[in-house]
Amino acid sequence: MKKCLKLFFVSAFLVSILSILTYASSPTSYTFYYNDREVTIESFYLDEEEAQSIADYIVFGITPVGYIEIGNQINTSILCTLFGHSIETYTAQETIHFAYSTSPKCVINIYRVECCTRSSCDYIEKTLIDSTRTAMCHG
Ligand SMILES: [Zn+2]
Ligand SMILES: [Zn+2]
Repeated sequence: MKKCLKLFFVSAFLVSILSILTYASSPTSYTFYYNDREVTIESFYLDEEEAQSIADYIVFGITPVGYIEIGNQINTSILCTLFGHSIETYTAQETIHFAYSTSPKCVINIYRVECCTRSSCDYIEKTLIDSTRTAMCHG
C-alpha cells in the first residue's frame, strides 16, 4: 500500500513537470482589434508592445509607432550595415471582416513578418503568404 502511494506521488510529480514543460513550449498568442480587422500574432519572444507594433504595421502598412524614419529609409544600426540584420521571423494572421458584400464576406491573410532583433534597428518586412475568403464569422 505504501509502495502504491509512493508511486502515485512520483507519477503526480512527473505529470506536473510535464505540464510545466508543455506550457513553456507553447507560444503566447496576441490578438489586436481594429475597426473591421483583427490581427493575431504568436510568438515565444515578443512582449505585448512589440506584438502591437507588428500588428499596426500589418494593418496600416507603415513602420510601427515610435520607429524613426529618415526619408524613406528606416533607421538601421551600423552593426546591421556591416553584418546584416539579425532576423526573427513571425507569422501573423489578419482577418478583414466584410471585405466583400457577398458570401464569403471576410478575408484571412497570413503574413510572414521579418523583424531585426537588434534594439538599434527598425528593419521590418511583411510578405503575404496566403489569402483566403471565409464565411466562418460573418457568412
Ligand atoms: Zn537590423
Ligand atoms: Zn468576419
